[in-house]
Amino acid sequence: MSVGYLTLTCHRCDFQKEVTRVRGAQRFSCNCGDFVTIIDGNDDLRGGCTVTYKRLVTENIVPPIPVRQFDWRAHLDGEEGRSMGWGSTRHDAILDLLCEIESRMDACVVA
Ligand SMILES: [Zn+2]
Repeated sequence: MSVGYLTLTCHRCDFQKEVTRVRGAQRFSCNCGDFVTIIDGNDDLRGGCTVTYKRLVTENIVPPIPVRQFDWRAHLDGEEGRSMGWGSTRHDAILDLLCEIESRMDACVVA
């Protein structure tokens, strides 16, 4: 995969973030809150790509079990049943969610 530059922009507060990926899930935080941007493009930006902004929801669950890896849960707003991230910290849960989304995208490419 070649490296391309893409500028993500929040349409509400105009916050901008430059990313060097043209395909995948990326965390995007601005004054409005936390979002996940799903960038769906080809190997380079010449063919264009679509960027979808989804609101990121995280919850501190802390279940009554000895392991702490399910303390935090992350998902996209309105998509609780599709992709779920778990972790012992909020950060880990978000990373887990991003991986989950990306693995689903790769599965779509193969299919
Ligand atoms: Zn914003």
